[in-house]
Order: sequence, then C-alpha cells, then structure tokens
Amino acid sequence: MTTFFENYLGLLDRAFEAHGASSDLKEQLKTPKHIHEATKSVVMDDGTERDFHMYRVQFNDARGPFKGGIRFHPQTDLEEVKALAALMAIKCAVLNIPFGGAKGGITVDPRGLSDGEQKRLAEAYIDAMTPHIGPDKDIPAPDVQTNEQIMAWMLTQYERNVGMHAPAVITGKPLALGGSLGRSSATSLGGVFTLEAYLAETNQDMGGMTVAIQGFGNAGSYAAKLLAERGMCITAVADSSAALIYDQGVDVEALIAWKKDHKPLRAFAAEHPEYTVMPADSILYRDVDVFIPAALENAITKHNAAQVRARIILELANGPLTLEADDILEKMGVVVLPDVLANAGGVTVSYFEWVQGRTGDRWDLQTVEEKLHQKMQDAYDACAKIAKERGVRFRTATFMLALSRLETAMKLRGL
Ligand code: GLU
Repeated sequence: MTTFFENYLGLLDRAFEAHGASSDLKEQLKTPKHIHEATKSVVMDDGTERDFHMYRVQFNDARGPFKGGIRFHPQTDLEEVKALAALMAIKCAVLNIPFGGAKGGITVDPRGLSDGEQKRLAEAYIDAMTPHIGPDKDIPAPDVQTNEQIMAWMLTQYERNVGMHAPAVITGKPLALGGSLGRSSATSLGGVFTLEAYLAETNQDMGGMTVAIQGFGNAGSYAAKLLAERGMCITAVADSSAALIYDQGVDVEALIAWKKDHKPLRAFAAEHPEYTVMPADSILYRDVDVFIPAALENAITKHNAAQVRARIILELANGPLTLEADDILEKMGVVVLPDVLANAGGVTVSYFEWVQGRTGDRWDLQTVEEKLHQKMQDAYDACAKIAKERGVRFRTATFMLALSRLETAMKLRGL
C-alpha cells in the first residue's frame, strides 16, 4: 500500500497536471523545509523513566509562519507527520489564512498515561521544540488525542523557557489562558458550513438526511451535535471499539456525556439495548446520505471503497481516503468534500485565536462564527468555481487553488 505521504505526492501530481504550475514549485512542495525529531525521557508515576519519540515537521512557510497541530498516537511516525504537515500548507492556502503548514506528533498511546505523565510528556515535547516554535515562527495546536489542557501545559512550558508571556505561540488553549470562543467546535462547524454550501448549490435540503460518523472525538462528536440540531438524523456512530446503530437517530447528548469519561461506545450499548452493536469498521458501509470520516487517515482504501453506500463524504479527518479509494468513489458518483476544505474550520478559528492573542482583543462567539462562516463560504466558492471551470473533482480543485496561492507567495519571495 502506498504510504500517507506518497498519497499526498500523488495528489500533488494530479493538481500539477491540471494546474500546469512551475516545476520549481513542485519540487519545493515535495519535501519539508525542516524536520525536527527528538527522543526524550519522561519520569513515570512509578519513578521509572520511559523514552518517547517526538516530531515536528515544518513543511512550507512561504505564506506565513508554520501552523499545525500535535497528535499523540501509537502509530504516529515521521511519514505520517510529513503528510499531515504538507496537508496543513495546502489547507491554510485554501482558506487564505496567512500561515504555512506544519505538524507535530509523539508516538504514544495517551490512554495509558496518567494526567501527571501526560503533563511531563507535553513539557518534554516543548523543551525539545522551543527553539523551533514561536508566535511568528511556528504555532502548534491540538490534533488527534490532544486537547486544551495539553495546550495549557505546553504554553506554560514554552513561556517558562523563553521567560515571557507568548499567548499567540499555541492555539486551541483554554479560554482562561487566551483561547478563543468557538475553537473547540470549529472543525465541525466548518464542516457543517461546507456541507451546507454544497447542499445549497445543488438545491438539496439537509432536513431528514441520514448520517454515519466514524470517530467520536472532538470532530466527530461536535459534528453529530451540530448536524442533529439542523434536523439531520445520525443513524450510526463508531469509535475504535464498535459501531452503534439506531435508525431513529442516536441520542447525541447521551453519547457525548458517555465519551467525556473516555468510556468506549461498546460499553454504552451494553446499557442501551435499543442500539445495535456492529464491528467498528462496518460504519463505512452504512446506507446513509452522508458519511463523515472523523478518525484517522486511510480509513477508505481500494479494498473497501466499493462497499461505501453514502452519496456524500464529508472529510473531517485528515487524509481518510487513499488515492485509489478516491478514484473508485469518483467513478461511483460519490461526492467527496475534501479534508483541506471540510476540516479547515479548526485552523481558521486557530488563526482568529492567534489574532486575538497578538492584539489582546476578545471576540464574542457570534463574531467568531460569522467570520468562520464567511471564510468557509469564500473557500468553498473558489474551489467550486475551479471544479466547474476546469472539469476537475473537488479535491483537485482545492489543491489547484492552494498551488496558485503558494506560487504567488513563492514568486514574490524569489523562492
Ligand atoms: N489539527 C487541526 C488540523 O488538522 C487544527 C490545526 C490548527 O489549528 O493549527 O487542521
């Protein structure tokens, strides 16, 4: 199977074919500008020390400081972080926010760590990366299995290391430390705006449409809540333990409350016999209007793409489809609203948080959400226009838009 990074290179090839940009630009978008790696020892609660591998890949900063989250995951490796960093550069260009792309990660299963251990791990990461990050250099944020609390520990450690306050160095912080209203739901709300833009353009109504969601972390759970509020029926959700099916519509609030305590969905079903329990992967094959991958990359591959029954895929995860899967779904007539647009609400509100961090200003929720809506609509319209005019699928259109913006910045810099 091609790796996640090779998959990105394949997408780049397609976009260059259609876009016809300079080959210099292509070379620069094939390799990261900087790769920072470290192995750090962290003291465990029992007094022993354990080594952890950590990464920060800074892909491209032609349009502004590097930007992107940090994930904690046992499968995280350099190849994965490279691909995610590249996608951030594309995403920030699609949304036209003044950032480049980066990503970080630690190879760890945080579910096995106490709060104290996670805190020391977060601090160790910042000790390794302090020379490389900064409000005008590289601005981390949360990603898979990291959260506000971890950002608070990271911010504090960075400020300790540099000896001054620097609220704009990290986004996705708690409100009390300079976070932004609307940041925690932003990835999902941006996805909802993308879906609404597509449905409006194609004269469809979301009321009564059915939805299946893979992944019930930050993105998946907020998506369930926001879409149910808009009259969609969430008939299936899955985490890594199981898929839960309930055709009348799952009880989103009850599931969110359950997952707050980090309990698996499978155990929820044991207490709620009205739910049908299926293997986690069966979520891919639900007969629904909209399928939302909101977990990890490579969820849909050439091996399972043909069994997908949804008409629309809204990618809240980064890289949930392989290149081959994308082709199969295209042939099947499935509409894919791609990650670099559909999940860009998170980094867009991160940008708003960074602006607030630098000015000391505070925006109310309505302002944040209105500005997010405008950014998502503008990006959607620009991509839809390219898709229509150039006869390319949405994903290629998003890349073409990003390439033209990156090309302009790089030309002006003489790169
Ligand atoms: N981790 C999120 C993403 O993949 C957000 C990144 C950010 O806010 O910088 O887009």
